[in-house]
Amino acid sequence: MFGKGSKLYSIFKHKCPRCHEGEFFVSHPYDLSKAGDIHPECPKCGLKYQAEPGFYYSAMYVSYALAVALFVTIWVSFNLFLPSFSVGWQIGAIVFFTLILTPYLYALSKIIWANFFFSYEKNTNINGTASKNN
Ligand SMILES: [Zn+2]
Repeated sequence: MFGKGSKLYSIFKHKCPRCHEGEFFVSHPYDLSKAGDIHPECPKCGLKYQAEPGFYYSAMYVSYALAVALFVTIWVSFNLFLPSFSVGWQIGAIVFFTLILTPYLYALSKIIWANFFFSYEKNTNINGTASKNN
């Protein structure tokens, strides 16, 4: 399920959605000067990550969904495990985790968006074609 060939592998390992070998991001999400910056194309298979101008603007919908999932997770966790804590603590926890996780969720939203449009192709070479040697 999490192995090479699954979308989850590409998403959580930050690998190219097509070959699952090339790096997707220029740097890690907490390198704030380059947070969310992606390579123009895959260094292994040559897939153009920027399919068209503004391709990743729509990743904000994914980012919104991830933020809502984070809020709901924190809210449900507080109500299940820490019911004596006030709403102020819940809001504080939501703000804290949102600030801490924003660079990661931003990067995650971009690679999830890319995985909506690009699929894994086994043995893809730099020309973007599948090799026939195995
Ligand atoms: Zn690739």
